[in-house]
Amino acid sequence: MRIRTRLILSFGFVLAVTLAVIAAALILFIAAQPPPQDDVYQKLATIMRDLTSEFQQARLRDLTQLPERLTAFAEENEVRVLMVGLERNAILVDTSGVFQTSDVLPLQAGSVTRLPTYLRRGLPIDTEPILGEFEDSSGDWLFTGLTIQGRNSGAAVLVAEQPVMRTLAEALLIFRDTLATPLAQAALVGLLVALVLSAFISRSLAGGLQSLSEAAHAVARGDYAWKVKPSGPPEVRDVADAFNRMSQQVHDTQRAQQDFVVNVSHDLKTPLTSIQGYSQAIMDGAAKDPVGAARIIYDESGRLNRMVIELTDLARLQSGQFSFQMKSIDLAALNRAVGERLALMAQRRGVRLHVETALTPPVMADGDRLAQVLTNLIGNAINHTPSGGQVWLRTAPAAGGVNISVQDTGAGIPPAELERIFERFYQVDASRGPKRGTGLGLAIAREIVTAHGGKISATSEGVGKGSTFTVWLPVGKPEAGGKKQA
Ligand code: ADP
Repeated sequence: MRIRTRLILSFGFVLAVTLAVIAAALILFIAAQPPPQDDVYQKLATIMRDLTSEFQQARLRDLTQLPERLTAFAEENEVRVLMVGLERNAILVDTSGVFQTSDVLPLQAGSVTRLPTYLRRGLPIDTEPILGEFEDSSGDWLFTGLTIQGRNSGAAVLVAEQPVMRTLAEALLIFRDTLATPLAQAALVGLLVALVLSAFISRSLAGGLQSLSEAAHAVARGDYAWKVKPSGPPEVRDVADAFNRMSQQVHDTQRAQQDFVVNVSHDLKTPLTSIQGYSQAIMDGAAKDPVGAARIIYDESGRLNRMVIELTDLARLQSGQFSFQMKSIDLAALNRAVGERLALMAQRRGVRLHVETALTPPVMADGDRLAQVLTNLIGNAINHTPSGGQVWLRTAPAAGGVNISVQDTGAGIPPAELERIFERFYQVDASRGPKRGTGLGLAIAREIVTAHGGKISATSEGVGKGSTFTVWLPVGKPEAGGKKQA
C-alpha cells in the first residue's frame, strides 16, 4: 500500500473514531437532559382540555363521585390530578394518594403563572388557566390547572407530571434531527483537510525515499559515485546520510579487496617465476651451479608455503572464524619461553637478545597466538638488526593493562612508513632476495592483538636508529568467547 493511501486511511480512521466518540457523547448528553418544560406543559394542557370536556359532561357534576372519577381519568392519561382549595392551597383530592386531604400543596415559590395564550386553545374562556411547579417526596412536578369558582370558595384542578429523562431512542431522534447534519459537514471538512495533508506528507516522504531508491539501484550497478542528496524529514535525511556512508564503505572495501587480489597474485608470481626459471635451467643443463639453483627453488617454494599459511591465517582472523583459547597468562613465563626459542637465531646473526621481565598482572589471552605475535616481532627485530646489535623484550605495567615491547638497534623505520607496515603485504624494502618475508606478519599480529582488545604500535627514531614495537593488552577484561568480529 502506498504511503499516501495509508495516510488517508489512517486519517480517515482517526476522524471516524473521533466523530463516533463525539456523536456518542452528544447522544448521551441529550438523553441526560430533561425535556424542555414547554413540551411538558403543552402535553399537560392538552390533557387538561380533555378533563374540562369531561367536567362539562353532566355526570361529573356529582361531587361525591369526583375523587373516583378523577382517579380513573388520571390512570387513563398517566398523569396525577389534584384538586386544591384556592384559599390556603389545601389539598382536596390527590389521585396519587401522596398528599392527604387538607395538606398544603408545597408550591415552588413564584412558579405559578397564567397559562400562555398559545396553550389555552380549547379551554373554556371563563376559566383562569395556570401553570406551575410543586414538590413532594418524589421530586419536582410540573402542572397546568384550571380554577373553578364554587359557591363559597374557589378550587383549582391540577394536572401534574414529573419531567422524566428522555429514552435513548428519543435522544437519537433529536440527534438525527439537529446535530447529525453539522457533524457530517465537519467530517467532510476534516476529510478534505486529511486528503491535502496526506498528499503533502507523502510527497515530502516519498521524494526522499525515491532518491534513496535511485541511489541504491545505482550502487547495485556499481556506480559508487552516486550520492543521495538528503531531503525530507530528519529521519529520511538520516537514512540518506547512512546510505552515503555505507556506499562509500562498500566502495572502499571493494577497492581494498581488488588491491589485495592484485598483491597476492603479484607476490605469488615472483617466487613462481624464479622457481620456473631455475628448474628450466637445471633441466636444460644450463645451470652452472645446479645445487645453488635447487636451493633457490627450495627457498622460494618455502616462501610460497609460508605465504599460503599466513594468508589462510589472516583470512580466518579477519572473518572472525578464528577461535581463541583465552587463559590467564603469566607474561614473564611466556616471554622467557619465546626468548629461549629465538636465542639460537639471534646468536647466529650475531645479535644479543635480552629478555627483561617485570612484575605484571596476568592477562587473559591465547598463549599460542600471543607467542606467535612476539615471535614475529622479535624475528623482525633480529632480521633488521646488523650483527653486533641488540634486541630487548620487555614487559611493564601500563594504564589499564600491560605493555610488551620489542626494541632493536637495527635499521629503523622511516616515519612515513610507521603506520603502513601493518598493512597486508607492505614491506619497507621489498627488493631483497628469496629470504625476504611476506609482508603479512605484522598484519596478522595486529589482527591477533585487536582480537584480544589490545593495541599494537611502532616507533622509530629514524633510519639506522632502531625501532620499538609495543603491544598493549588490557588487564581484567577478558574478551567474551575470545572471538573477533571482522
Ligand atoms: P615481513 O614478512 O616482510 O617481515 P611484516 O609484516 O612482519 O612482514 O613487516 C612488514 C615490514 O615492516 C617489513 O618488511 C619491514 O620493512 C618492516 N619492519 C618490521 N619490523 C621491523 C624492524 N624491527 N625494523 C625495521 N623494519 C621493520
